[in-house]
Amino acid sequence: MKFGGTSMAGIERIRSVAARVKREVEAGNQVAVVVSAMAGETDRLVGFCREASALYDPREYDVVVSAGEQVTSGLLAIALQAIGVPARSWLGWQLPIHTDEAFAKARIGTIDTAALDASLSAGEVAVIPGFQGVAEGGRITTLGRGGSDTSAVAVAAAMGAERCDIYTDVDGVYTTDPRIVPRARKLHQVTYEEMLELASVGAKVLQTRSVGLAMKEGVRVQVLSSFTGPDAPMADTLPGTMIVGEEEIEAVERQVITGIAHDKNEAKITLTRVPDKPGAVAAIFAPLADANINVDMIIQNIAHQAGQAGPGSTDVTFTVPGADLARSIDALNGAQGEIGFAELVHDTRVAKISVVGVGMRSHAGVASQMFTTLGQRGINIQAISTSEIKVSVLIHEDETELAVRVLHTAYGLDAEAA
Ligand code: ASP
Ligand code: MG
Repeated sequence: MKFGGTSMAGIERIRSVAARVKREVEAGNQVAVVVSAMAGETDRLVGFCREASALYDPREYDVVVSAGEQVTSGLLAIALQAIGVPARSWLGWQLPIHTDEAFAKARIGTIDTAALDASLSAGEVAVIPGFQGVAEGGRITTLGRGGSDTSAVAVAAAMGAERCDIYTDVDGVYTTDPRIVPRARKLHQVTYEEMLELASVGAKVLQTRSVGLAMKEGVRVQVLSSFTGPDAPMADTLPGTMIVGEEEIEAVERQVITGIAHDKNEAKITLTRVPDKPGAVAAIFAPLADANINVDMIIQNIAHQAGQAGPGSTDVTFTVPGADLARSIDALNGAQGEIGFAELVHDTRVAKISVVGVGMRSHAGVASQMFTTLGQRGINIQAISTSEIKVSVLIHEDETELAVRVLHTAYGLDAEAA
């Protein structure tokens, strides 16, 4: 069981979590619980580090920011003991949870489970602070923001758990953002690959890295509501969304499109009149790669005629993370001589809309239906990219909501009217 910061925000809520854990224990389960810091606490601790010095030592930053989870793990153990459930906390260095030495963004290597196994066999609940581990040499590490999801999946994998239940502010993964489409449906199941695509294109429920780890280790993950009242359904009845391998998806659940995501965090860059010759595209993307900037969608327009004046030319359009736009412009202008473009045009008022589904592997016409649906609504497509299970288009930001809504209907994802 993994509980996020909202569930840990204050003693009253920690008591409710303890009660929920107790129900699982009474149902005959052995339980390890991974906890986040109280909501807002990690931000507060990060702020202290920045205030102490803009150039803080990441090793000391990890000592500071891992403290939030130390507090909540101890408090939950106390709350469990208070209602008669034997429990103890296991800090990252005590198990230990081994990580590499990339302080502030460490990756988990192995987890020693001997102590945990013994503790669970003895009838204790093990409470483990998320987000933290220990590097060789004994220094404390943290896993990057949102990392306690990854801690939970890693612990579940190491222990061979039947399931990793992630209790969160939403009660599952939806076909799309319910704030945009009130008739979005909660998915009972979604594959790891779909979840990765949905997460990476802006549907943030879990830390993306935790989904990759679950896929690699074959951990069955459930996202479910952290609502902890006495009538909350038992986790074994699978009230949330199960993230599983494709082979586990039930036939009745199969749909061509599983979900629709939107992402307003990209920016579009167009370079005009790039020489149409070998090496031209490489000259554009090499400086961006050197600056560690991820390019996502790329289109190269049809060449302008070559003439007496020399080789033809072409316009190249691509997207970068909005946060990297200024650095991208800088890198490209610095390489203008080598690339030989005429003008750099950029636009941050764009949104990427993606339809995702493993079903499209065996169905033709998914992209065509997307383009037709958007065209009928007068929504202009500025760029396209595809993968085996995803089609993404770039459109004007103001049309995001409309696009998501009409596509949700077109692919038959709307819930029945109540
Ligand atoms: N407390 C950490 C954070 O806020 C880790 C987590 O909650 O997942 O990023
Ligand atoms: Mg989180």
